[in-house]
Amino acid sequence: MPDDREHAQGKPRWLVIGGGVMGLKIADELAAKGQDVTIAEAAPTFGGLTSAWKLGDVTWDRFYHVTLLSDSVLRRQLESLGLERELQWVETKTGFYAGGKLMSMSNTLEFLRFPPLSMLQRIRLGGTIFLASKIRDFRKMEQQSVETWLRRWSGKGAFEKVWLPLLKAKLGDAYRQTSAAFIWAHTQRMYKARRSGAKKEMFGYVPGGYARILDVWTKQLSDRGVRLLCGHGVNSVRKTDDSAVGRLEVDFGEGRVETFDNVVSTIASPLIADQCDQLREDEKSRLRAIKYLGVVCASMLLKNPISPYYVTNITDTWVPLTGVIEMSTIVDSKSQLGGHHLVYLPKYMADDHPDLAEPDEDYKQRCLETLEKMYDHFSREDVLEFKVARAKYVAALSTIDYSTRLPPVVTSVPGFYALNSAHILEGNLNVNETLLLGEQKLRDEVWPDFLSRGGPAQTMKTVGAHG
Ligand SMILES: Cc1cc2nc3c(=O)[nH]c(=O)nc-3n(C[C@H](O)[C@H](O)[C@H](O)COP(=O)(O)OP(=O)(O)OC[C@H]3O[C@@H](n4cnc5c(N)ncnc54)[C@H](O)[C@@H]3O)c2cc1C
Repeated sequence: MPDDREHAQGKPRWLVIGGGVMGLKIADELAAKGQDVTIAEAAPTFGGLTSAWKLGDVTWDRFYHVTLLSDSVLRRQLESLGLERELQWVETKTGFYAGGKLMSMSNTLEFLRFPPLSMLQRIRLGGTIFLASKIRDFRKMEQQSVETWLRRWSGKGAFEKVWLPLLKAKLGDAYRQTSAAFIWAHTQRMYKARRSGAKKEMFGYVPGGYARILDVWTKQLSDRGVRLLCGHGVNSVRKTDDSAVGRLEVDFGEGRVETFDNVVSTIASPLIADQCDQLREDEKSRLRAIKYLGVVCASMLLKNPISPYYVTNITDTWVPLTGVIEMSTIVDSKSQLGGHHLVYLPKYMADDHPDLAEPDEDYKQRCLETLEKMYDHFSREDVLEFKVARAKYVAALSTIDYSTRLPPVVTSVPGFYALNSAHILEGNLNVNETLLLGEQKLRDEVWPDFLSRGGPAQTMKTVGAHG
């Protein structure tokens, strides 16, 4: 690691911890403000949940990602990287696996014909979705459990035949602690996507996937003077004096210590509580109280497609998967996937669920047995590659009254900011919401606090301190 004096160029020094899209966005915004920025990522590559890996000869995202027409912040970011015009937009179909049968649920007519439900149940189900799309105040939704709200509007039949299996598939048993804001945010995102022009569901991707986006983005950051450190996990952050400005000592392990004026940590909330011991006890307990949803997600490269649907939702409770995501219904097989087909098999669960550590081979066997039962034509012979990715901290669970219990972004340790995707309140986790949050919180909370603590004047003191 270079000596920190080399980087004290007369500007306040910022460290961004975590090189996922949130960390990259914060670094980007700070660099645009002319700050001296370093970004430290623990993994060997940048991207976090959006990072890619190799499946045989194919490089694609470890976790499935699509962009919606309404993802305006993400599209603006892609534009600044010169990639927006390359977005490929594809009309998608949605499938449903219910009662041992696979059926299309891609439009209103198909929805109204959904066989497991009576006509009254279908009307109540449709009415519930419509109602969720019309509600504007998420706080009302946040104050009641998702189960209570759905039972009230959809009735027992539709709740038990459709919502309950879907909630269990998407959230595991954690659905019991989840507020109605979860279903509200999902509905809002889908309605917004339809309102944004196309009546049909269109999803987009950049050729090369997120690997390409990350490549261009990190290069652009580097060209703008941001110092990018991979394989640099941050163990701890400690303020070394009691002044209002600067002097945060950052321990990277193995005796590597560096001093910064400001630190923005974008990693999962419970990890932030462990990272900065000087936070007040109430801040630490708020950070630790945030429950996360984790995921085990297999990527499977196949010789043949398995269905025409991008997402197949599953209501049969014997199926141990959240859904089947057939990426190659969107991503061009020939030019992007070596002529093969790419399917993801995710299973979401609470961050403390023992299945998060299920051995890869066990998960593989369970997936293959399930697919053999679900699809007559599926054969193990078709599987060219099978790899399992897992993540403990994917999305903060939106529990009852979640927004009132969030820890502050501006912490009690001067210059230390805790800004991560747990602060998304009016949406579900996705890249667009993450970038929007980063932009807004930096503008409205982090930057004003920095200015109030002396802002650029920190330079004088910290240059003195370094030099
Ligand atoms: C299965 C799945 C499907 C998804 N599908 C979509 C989709 O279709 N569309 C969409 O828009 N979004 C999707 N998302 C969401 C999207 O991936 C996230 O919104 C986004 O990646 C969150 O970025 P982040 O930077 O907040 O978090 P992360 O990506 O988790 O980044 C945090 C980073 O911090 C690093 N870190 C942790 N501890 C330390 C430490 N001590 N020191 C340094 N670094 C550390 C981690 O290694 C990681 O890189 C999906 C996510 C998953 C898991």
